[in-house]
Amino acid sequence: MNASAPPEVQLRSASLRVTRPRLAVLDAVRGTPHADADTIAREVRARLGSVSTQAVYNVLAALTEANLLRRIEPAGSPARYETRVGDNHHHVVCRVCGAMADVDCAVDETPCLEADDPHGFVIDEAEVTYWGLCPRCQKRSGRSVSSMSSMSSMSSMSSVSSVSDTTSPQGEKSHEQ
Ligand SMILES: [Zn+2]
Ligand SMILES: [Zn+2]
Ligand SMILES: [Zn+2]
Repeated sequence: MNASAPPEVQLRSASLRVTRPRLAVLDAVRGTPHADADTIAREVRARLGSVSTQAVYNVLAALTEANLLRRIEPAGSPARYETRVGDNHHHVVCRVCGAMADVDCAVDETPCLEADDPHGFVIDEAEVTYWGLCPRCQKRSGRSVSSMSSMSSMSSMSSVSSVSDTTSPQGEKSHEQ
């Protein structure tokens, strides 16, 4: 399914009834990729007024089941959702603030799906998560990743330009250095 199709069309093609909560959830996730359920619930309430968090959870589950949303579960973080489905892209996650950005697998290919020895399995997904420090947290902690230390801080800032500002429960953890 083309993720850029209108939400109504996406729902119908997934044989889901078009409801206002479903439309609002799809719209909210599209607007804030990699948001967690609580953030999405806030966005949905801002659009529709009172909608219970449980109702939003139910819609997220139905849309994920129908493959209209992808659910990402980084270790130690609540599940996040995005509308970019089916392309086997990966994520880079900040260890400190939980900021997350998309990382393409490789140009027009999915080499990580070619397991060295698949043990007879038919593989359809490779869950790869890169962990590190986002540019903002590198700056705040005065620490730079060793492989990036030769780069200027400006160029490492711009290297991950689509880091989302999604909040995380770990966000206020104090920095070690
Ligand atoms: Zn960070
Ligand atoms: Zn993503
Ligand atoms: Zn890959």
